[in-house]
Amino acid sequence: MSRSALAAPAAPPFVDAAFADDAFAAHKFGGSSLADASCFRRVAAIVDAQAGPRQLIVVSAMRGTTDALIALADDAIAAREGWRNDLTRLRQRHVATAQELLGENAPAIGWLDAEFARLAHLLDALAVLGTPNREAIDAIQGLGEVWSSRILADLFVSQGRACARLDAREVLRIGHGELGAVVDWDASAANYAAWRAQHAQPWLVVTGFVARTREDRDTVLGRNGSDYSAAIFAALANASELTLWGDTDGVLSADPRLVPDAIPLADLSYDEACELAYFGAKVIHPQTLTPVIARGLPVRIRNTFRPEHAGTAIGQPGVDATRSPVKGLSAVQGLAVLTLEGAGMIGVPGTAERAFGALHAAGVSVVMISQGSSEHSICCIVREADAARAEHAVRRAFVAELARGEIASVGVAAGISVLAAVGDGMAGQPGVAARLFGALARCGVNIRAIAQGASERNISIAVDSADVARALRAAHAAFWLSPQTLSVGLVGPGKVGAALLAQIEAARPRLLREHQLDLRVRAVATSRRQWLGEADGAAAWSQSASDGTDLDALVEHVHAEHLPHAVLIDCSANDAVAARYADWLAAGIHVVTPNKHAGAGPRERWQRIRDASANGARFRYEATVGAGLPVISTLRDLLDTGDELLAVEGILSGTLAWLFNRYDGSVPFSALVHEAHALGYTEPDPRDDLSGTDVARKLVILAREAGTGLELGDVAVESLVPPSLRDSSAEDFMRRLSEFDAAIAERHARTHADGCVLRYVARLDRDGHASVGLAELPRDHAFAHLRLTDNIVQFTTRRYRDNPLVVQGPGAGPEVTAAGVFADLLRVAASVGARL
Ligand code: ADP
Ligand code: ASP
Ligand code: MG
Repeated sequence: MSRSALAAPAAPPFVDAAFADDAFAAHKFGGSSLADASCFRRVAAIVDAQAGPRQLIVVSAMRGTTDALIALADDAIAAREGWRNDLTRLRQRHVATAQELLGENAPAIGWLDAEFARLAHLLDALAVLGTPNREAIDAIQGLGEVWSSRILADLFVSQGRACARLDAREVLRIGHGELGAVVDWDASAANYAAWRAQHAQPWLVVTGFVARTREDRDTVLGRNGSDYSAAIFAALANASELTLWGDTDGVLSADPRLVPDAIPLADLSYDEACELAYFGAKVIHPQTLTPVIARGLPVRIRNTFRPEHAGTAIGQPGVDATRSPVKGLSAVQGLAVLTLEGAGMIGVPGTAERAFGALHAAGVSVVMISQGSSEHSICCIVREADAARAEHAVRRAFVAELARGEIASVGVAAGISVLAAVGDGMAGQPGVAARLFGALARCGVNIRAIAQGASERNISIAVDSADVARALRAAHAAFWLSPQTLSVGLVGPGKVGAALLAQIEAARPRLLREHQLDLRVRAVATSRRQWLGEADGAAAWSQSASDGTDLDALVEHVHAEHLPHAVLIDCSANDAVAARYADWLAAGIHVVTPNKHAGAGPRERWQRIRDASANGARFRYEATVGAGLPVISTLRDLLDTGDELLAVEGILSGTLAWLFNRYDGSVPFSALVHEAHALGYTEPDPRDDLSGTDVARKLVILAREAGTGLELGDVAVESLVPPSLRDSSAEDFMRRLSEFDAAIAERHARTHADGCVLRYVARLDRDGHASVGLAELPRDHAFAHLRLTDNIVQFTTRRYRDNPLVVQGPGAGPEVTAAGVFADLLRVAASVGARL
């Protein structure tokens, strides 16, 4: 259960009803809109541009002033020197702003001097006392609004406007309740009427944030309380609408500081706005809406810096079925989870009531509650600052049960944040929670507690604060509020890697536009150089790579906290890189690769990789066999649909296919090998192809896919590399290639004479016997008619027994291999929620 929309109070009296035909338009300008003199001018221009004759303008303090005032009081009390300098700076900032706007000798300057002199006295008194004094601190906190309202009102007057300044302390009476300030509407309305009788001006500038208690002491409405002030005065003045002006294009779908892709929302219902505000969307104060809901007043949130933008309209709910069920997400940080556990609670009525009664008595406000239906535990979320008090209160309430062991434990854990997904459209729509939980699961965020309000307008999830940014972004993308973002790192930008980067670069704009998929290549590393960046690695890495590769640093960068999904693409042919996959997968990083070392490496390591990929992160390796051809996925589909593999036979090396398709004895075999190497058809070391190892690896990968535990050593391999060349360096080997030529020429001549062709064939039979080597095939054999680098794989299965299933096509070359890797990358993207 979560806290539902704030209850609306009785409608405040309509004092200015006499002017109903010409109702006030109410505005509030936040501190960010009043940072300096040019901001004040901008605000004046905005008000000037309003159509109606009556404008009521509530102001915050100049940006940062409230924080500065609170710090001044704290520092004075703690006798931290330096506060006098800070005070001087604050005074100078206000005086300079006033002088720039109103002139050197404007009355406001003398007035400001007097105000600051009084503040200095107050701070001196606090410094002497040396202890916090609530009343003095409350009075000090609100002074920024007093000053800014004077500057703005005088500016309007200087521009010839009939404008009065209303110091809210003269009118607004409040009490302090558990949920914050409570307006005494009767007293405030009477005061307003009396004040208005003396001030008939059509424009009013009103101090936000400040008020007085019923005992006539200066106080404030709570941090960010100017929004509330604006709503209160809009109600008192019977305004027809309220606009809250800030520095964003309205209410965004999430806090832009946590989710840079957040989008402005065109409209929100009051209930949605209440939920978002309550759960931390700082753009609107939770209490703001109580007076305006009571009157059905339309509210707009707009950007002072972009007044041409329509902003967000808040009002009665509008139904728009085409939109995402979730409108926005918010997060409250700085919370703690309190749990009460024990079998003794099961079936005992009143346990929850006692726990919450104890919290209430201790003055602890509960942000969220969840209880399992087993009644074995109750868990609730409180503010971190209240956590110790909350734990103590609950322990005291259950001291007897704890002693008897009926309650096993009461504990608190700090460092919790609550993420809330909000939207009227969630009600009655199945699958919303699943989408949200799925998104968090896929980015490896653990959920501590869950609550959904009966209104179904809000699902709240408690997570560790360390995870909150990632969780917000993943959820934001899951509801298509922002593109699905993948943080991509690529190791080994050789021929395949480079082709892949070019393909990604070319496809990126389309994927973003048509599929809301944002592939960010954020790291590229060769064995000697690496580049770490933000998004454009596919285009930019090689110009700005630096010497020295540190794979750990690369992985850490790619697996960034703030991006929900990380993928490492290994385009190296390196066994040492493959040795890291299991750790990467276990850490939640997806791995995509054409590198065969993992799939064909030691069985125990391969098993660890499979196990690590079983829970969460994906491991995809389609391009390890047949480059871009759907070989592994075809086999998987056969097996997953219940077929049984009886045999595999094929030409699995594009290189060897090409060599033997081309070889007719007219050109030396070694010359063809050189050509294939230059075309990128061979592995970096062509011996991997010619020795048969590469083909054997592919056969092992297929065999393992089919469930056998085949090891590379189990494959009978016929190597084409003469023993004398097996141990030399790759360069030496390339130089001495012609040592091949005689043996191959002789074998070819013999085969040819028999009416056959030579092909390098891989075979796996139903007993698990695996072999790769040269076969002499009749000229009409299916394998004898391949073109160029074509691969062919025949799957003989229970279903495809008489006529095997054949996959055939180009099976080598950087472009097609890269395309196979790219397709895997897109499958990973789809698995984390991209709409492909
Ligand atoms: P003001 O001084 O105008 O009252 P605040 O600093 O109180 O401004 O709050 C506005 C800030 O709240 C924005 O600049 C933005 O960074 C932050 N914010 C948090 N959540 C949201 C949201 N959902 N939509 C817009 N802004 C938000
Ligand atoms: N100036 C006050 C604050 O910073 C009130 C407000 O700006 O809404 O909390
Ligand atoms: Mg604010």
